[in-house]
Amino acid sequence: MSELQSSELQQFRDMVKRFLEKEIKPFYNQWEKDGIIPRDVWYSMGANGLLAVDLPEEYGGSGVSYLYSMVILEEASYANYGSLATGLSVHSDIAAPYVLHIGNDAQRQQWLPKMASGEVIGAIGMTEPGAGSDLQAIRTTAILNGDHYVLNGSKTFITNGQHADLVILAAKTDPNAGAKGVSLFLVDMNLAGCARGRNLEKMGLHAQDTSELFFDNVKLPLDSILGEAGKGFSYLMNELPRERLNLSVCAVAASEGLLADTIAYTQERMAFGKPISQLQNTRFTLATCHTDIAINRAFVDSCVNLYMEGKLDATKAAVAKLSSTDMQGRVADACLQMFGGYGYMLEYPAARAYVDARIQRIYGGTNEIMKEVIARSLVGR
Ligand SMILES: Cc1cc2nc3c(=O)[nH]c(=O)nc-3n(C[C@H](O)[C@H](O)[C@H](O)COP(=O)(O)OP(=O)(O)OC[C@H]3O[C@@H](n4cnc5c(N)ncnc54)[C@H](O)[C@@H]3O)c2cc1C
Repeated sequence: MSELQSSELQQFRDMVKRFLEKEIKPFYNQWEKDGIIPRDVWYSMGANGLLAVDLPEEYGGSGVSYLYSMVILEEASYANYGSLATGLSVHSDIAAPYVLHIGNDAQRQQWLPKMASGEVIGAIGMTEPGAGSDLQAIRTTAILNGDHYVLNGSKTFITNGQHADLVILAAKTDPNAGAKGVSLFLVDMNLAGCARGRNLEKMGLHAQDTSELFFDNVKLPLDSILGEAGKGFSYLMNELPRERLNLSVCAVAASEGLLADTIAYTQERMAFGKPISQLQNTRFTLATCHTDIAINRAFVDSCVNLYMEGKLDATKAAVAKLSSTDMQGRVADACLQMFGGYGYMLEYPAARAYVDARIQRIYGGTNEIMKEVIARSLVGR
């Protein structure tokens, strides 16, 4: 039996479900209105062993496999808490692995136990107002000046931006060296010169504190560089498959959750004297969604297994992200239609699932960039 079906993992899944039911469900609608999930929730997730679980125990994690972290993302997505899943994914499944894989032991000791407890919330700072897909064009600089770097620039669209204590930041240490001049830094947001901008108003993910960040002559200690200077791009390339796998896992689980809600609704909602689930169009729509999800589930699960074996490559991760997030968009649209006018009302699950799904084709590398990555493996550059 694979670990994916093990009883330990099922018990962990049940625990995650109970946590979501008790600690998230009663408050989530209010957080969507507030535009942020309260800081206390992060502490609570840490105390319940739900943050960065797959870190080794010496760094505060539970020393379990990626599957456990994946289960947390799946359950949050299935329950239609897209803002929570996104924040968790960035913190536990992107930021923490950067520190673990690239950081030295002192950096790991400094940051990881606090990331596991919720004392430190992590973010990834790549995108700038003038550079998203084309990261080589970033203008943020970190220039060596004796015993420190001087950091100047700004970032935008940063997930967890209002709460973040630690930002894995891309900056140019050599502005004339193109991609080879990009380095990564562990930026402590408490340093003088670091500032948070607006908590951005978005069409979806309303409870996610996606924000601007500003850096004005920040004195970065030398030991805040992550890995070696100039290697930022190669580190990014190594970490991106997991980031894209996380998005795919969320896409499939969110679609499964929405389909379950839609099936229940169509069995209750009456039209022309019978439940709308008995109309052929409804039946065919549900069957098409089910099929679309099942095919994507199979491929994404195979990528999860490859990741666990250390064999998930950039192309397969791009295929998973492209296919599963496109599928999520189709399913969200079709399911919303089954709810009729209620589907357009934010208090119904289909509306939130629909607006939350839209970003999935944009972040983590747009789906056009996924096609570029895949095409490159077929016909070169
Ligand atoms: C809610 C949200 C959360 C986010 N979280 C984070 C975060 O935590 N950290 C972070 O660093 N960033 C984050 N982002 C930024 C996100 O990753 C970028 O928006 C995304 O990479 C696209 O960059 P861009 O917005 O600059 O669009 P652009 O790069 O300007 O793209 C515009 C359009 O051109 C297309 N395009 C660009 N290049 C090509 C190409 N070579 N071939 C074909 N088409 C192309 C794109 O696909 C897109 O359709 C987030 C964004 C949002 C909206």
